[in-house]
Amino acid sequence: MTYRDTSAGELTAADAGRTVQLAGWAQRIRDQGGVMFIDLRDASGIVQIVVDPAVHPAAVDLRREFCISVTGEVAPRPAGSENPDLATGGVEVAVSALAVLATARPLPFQLDERTEVDELFRLQYRYLDMRRPGVAANLRARSAAVAAMRRTLNAAGFLDVETPTLIKSTPEGARDVLVPSRLQKGDFYALPQSPQLFKQLLMIGGIERYYQIARCYRDEDFRSDRQLEFSQLDIEGSFWGRDDVLATIEAVMVEVARDVRGVELTTPFPRLTYHESMDRYGTDKPDLRFEMAIEDLTDLFSSTEFKAFAGAVEAGGVIRGLNVGPAGLSRAGLDALVDDAKAAGAGGLVWMVVEDDGSLRSPVAKFLSENELADLTGALSGSPGDLLLLVADRWRIAVEVLGRFRVRFGSPDGHDELNFLWVVDFPVFEETAGGDLVAAHHPFSAPVDVAEMESSPATAIAQAYDLVLNGSELGSGSVRIHDPATQEKVFEILGISPDEAERRFGWFVEALGFGTPPHAGFAVGIARLVSILQGEPNIREVIPFPKTQTGVDPLTGSPSPVDDYQLMELGIDLRPDVRAARLAAEESGGDQPEGS
Ligand code: ASP
Repeated sequence: MTYRDTSAGELTAADAGRTVQLAGWAQRIRDQGGVMFIDLRDASGIVQIVVDPAVHPAAVDLRREFCISVTGEVAPRPAGSENPDLATGGVEVAVSALAVLATARPLPFQLDERTEVDELFRLQYRYLDMRRPGVAANLRARSAAVAAMRRTLNAAGFLDVETPTLIKSTPEGARDVLVPSRLQKGDFYALPQSPQLFKQLLMIGGIERYYQIARCYRDEDFRSDRQLEFSQLDIEGSFWGRDDVLATIEAVMVEVARDVRGVELTTPFPRLTYHESMDRYGTDKPDLRFEMAIEDLTDLFSSTEFKAFAGAVEAGGVIRGLNVGPAGLSRAGLDALVDDAKAAGAGGLVWMVVEDDGSLRSPVAKFLSENELADLTGALSGSPGDLLLLVADRWRIAVEVLGRFRVRFGSPDGHDELNFLWVVDFPVFEETAGGDLVAAHHPFSAPVDVAEMESSPATAIAQAYDLVLNGSELGSGSVRIHDPATQEKVFEILGISPDEAERRFGWFVEALGFGTPPHAGFAVGIARLVSILQGEPNIREVIPFPKTQTGVDPLTGSPSPVDDYQLMELGIDLRPDVRAARLAAEESGGDQPEGS
């Protein structure tokens, strides 16, 4: 039996007179007494079919989302009944045969409205949610993006190589997802946080150009734009420096943006150093669809009598200012900004509003000289109505706090624009609150200068870079360390003892010793990229079956308990307190100790 010979969404007036067979779902059913109008939907679109229930009694029992196959003649719609909102709105199909392929239970929610359904409910019935326009369009865009990536890299001679997903843990800064081994009881695999070390092994193996749409797993406490598992475009190249990576990724983004959004990107993308980015925008992922830069006012207040400013500078700090434009805040609103700044770590915040006569209204204006006020207004290009914000503090705090206000008050004009940007020259290490050094990217990124890294690790620069799109980090990469001695040095600075380094990475350092070519690479988060291209603030909209922010899949109910015999085979016993918590949860009706 054939189900169809034509796709519903393709029909146009040119098909009038053709007899077609269609198959799909009954999306809308209107019974107008003696004649039924049904919107038949398949993956390609929707077309109206017209059924006479006297001839086709089965039609009377049709309900929404029944799966049907029909045969009929395409006809122009009678004048006045065309539907300009529908691609096929000029035609309809007069049904001569109708078969119900499958009935459908009553629907948990309407499939035509996008906004009204609670997300948890949508995820529980994702397969129905997908029949609505939004998710399906996002999945098509995602498929087009990945196809463009593969096409570009295949043409450039890259090899698509799969790396294992049951591996020895590769640190990328997050917690590993662990998988117990049945044959080596008590041992665990980790799911990859990324294929980092395997792609480096491919370079050692002489593969030279690698890419993969790689599945990665990071057990982080969820933020709204993170998932426990995700896909990234992962690439690596031998005999490469930074600019080879940047040019390759730019070439990929050009194709993706053309195919998904129909726009031509201009390359090369602008570049900022990490320091410039922090200094001007207070973040390493600035949204440059609007400028609004942080200005350095330290020199302007070099001989100020205002104690809060003078004290901060004496203590080695800076004074930074930001003009956020007309904010129209009440006095209470302005004072609330001070609390926000303090909550973000600043000692304080000074606000000033430019009055119509150009003077500054501020609780601290009286402590500043006429000249200081005038110079300040000039330096921040203040016009009447503008709100000026000043922070006197340590450099990092000052810029980060102002950076937050920049994002809060800045408005990306023409939000459709795709503003790509490279942030380069990240530091090798970051200091934790406890004063320890951790890898800013991962421990395999090469320092610009090994000697500098050894003498002053806290300020050393890495050959590491990020790609930023509209204020979101799309991905990171670096030139890698390719000699074993430097790799060991980095482990040492990170406080990893030689014994531990040997146990965790001995196999990798050994591999580096066999004539490793200089190499570099990058990874781009696919859901993040597609969500921005599609204008979706929530990345779950571009993921077919996402998990909630607590890592739960409401559709299948994972994670879920396993049978005792499964645990036994793995040599695993749940701790008594965990067992007790499970039991208590089951008794109280839920099977999740932690709610979803
Ligand atoms: N492995 C890195 C990541 O997943 C990317 C890279 O350095 O290529 O973020």
